[in-house]
Amino acid sequence: ESKSDGRGRLKVFEPAMLHARQMRNQLVGELKEAIAGSQLVLHYQPIVRLDTREIEGVEALVRWNHPTRGLVMPDEFIPIAEETGMISDLGGWVLRTAVEQLKQWRSDPLTRRHHFSMRINVSAADLQRLEFVEDVREALASADLDPSLLVLELTESAVIQGNDLDRYTLNSLRRLGVGLEIDDFGTGYSSISYLRQLPVDTVKVDRTLLSALGSDPSQPALLAAVLQLIRACGLKAVWEGIETAEQAEYLLGIGCTSGQGYFFSRPLAEAQLTEQLKHHDTWPVS
Ligand code: C2E
Ligand code: MG
Ligand code: MG
Ligand code: MG
Repeated sequence: ESKSDGRGRLKVFEPAMLHARQMRNQLVGELKEAIAGSQLVLHYQPIVRLDTREIEGVEALVRWNHPTRGLVMPDEFIPIAEETGMISDLGGWVLRTAVEQLKQWRSDPLTRRHHFSMRINVSAADLQRLEFVEDVREALASADLDPSLLVLELTESAVIQGNDLDRYTLNSLRRLGVGLEIDDFGTGYSSISYLRQLPVDTVKVDRTLLSALGSDPSQPALLAAVLQLIRACGLKAVWEGIETAEQAEYLLGIGCTSGQGYFFSRPLAEAQLTEQLKHHDTWPVS
């Protein structure tokens, strides 16, 4: 009896699982084409000085302009790229494209009055590639950019659980002069002792820490404590996920100097941000 039950269940689930696997296989094939072809596109989200509201950085966020599905978001394909080894090609494309774009903004007479860095997200798998440091050096050299204008955003887990090769890579990148930042801080592994040891200069605090501001009376004190902790470790803090003017004001009040979020700007296509850079000095633009 129980056997036939099991078979009955299988009958229900098998077609669905098969379908999921087919979908995934199709996606893997399509992603390979997307990387080789020109279906990937970068959007750029401003990082803003909280006191003057000037732009001090942009984060490059990859999207997949799929021929039939429209704009596919990174959470849907970055994990697949990581599992299949395609992330190094994808990451190389992001690096070169972002650096080239910054060069363009810095050389256009209509946009070059802004002074800001380019931030790209680096996958843990990138740190495992021996050529990664060389790729970064080459991209910067071919765009003739000062290495300090590039900041690499790394997740906590990539930096903290990393092995000797990761450590070596991080130290090499540091010597090269690029900025290193921990992304999504507060969601995972970091402890105070780690924060002090890591070869990074900036910490980007995850937006989940901000979302309860206003409703939970203990939250403001917590935010201030997190900020103090980061500074006590000699690091600079950037707050992400700022969605309201109140949040921006509050963070400025407790001494946070940099922020990013929908309140200032959503991630924008290159042409859209270029237009804003030409005509505006502060964000949000009005
Ligand atoms: P992330 O690096 O933490 O990027 C911030 C994400 O939060 C972005 O989502 C951004 O659109 C979103 N965001 C920004 N401001 C706000 C806000 O005020 N409220 C809310 N609710 N969300 C906000 P996105 O573009 O979907 O990217 C998701 C993740 O995908 C990124 O998280 C990053 O981990 C990864 N990713 C994106 N581009 C790349 C890339 O080129 N390479 C790699 N390896 N990963 C990437
Ligand atoms: Mg990021
Ligand atoms: Mg983040
Ligand atoms: Mg994230």
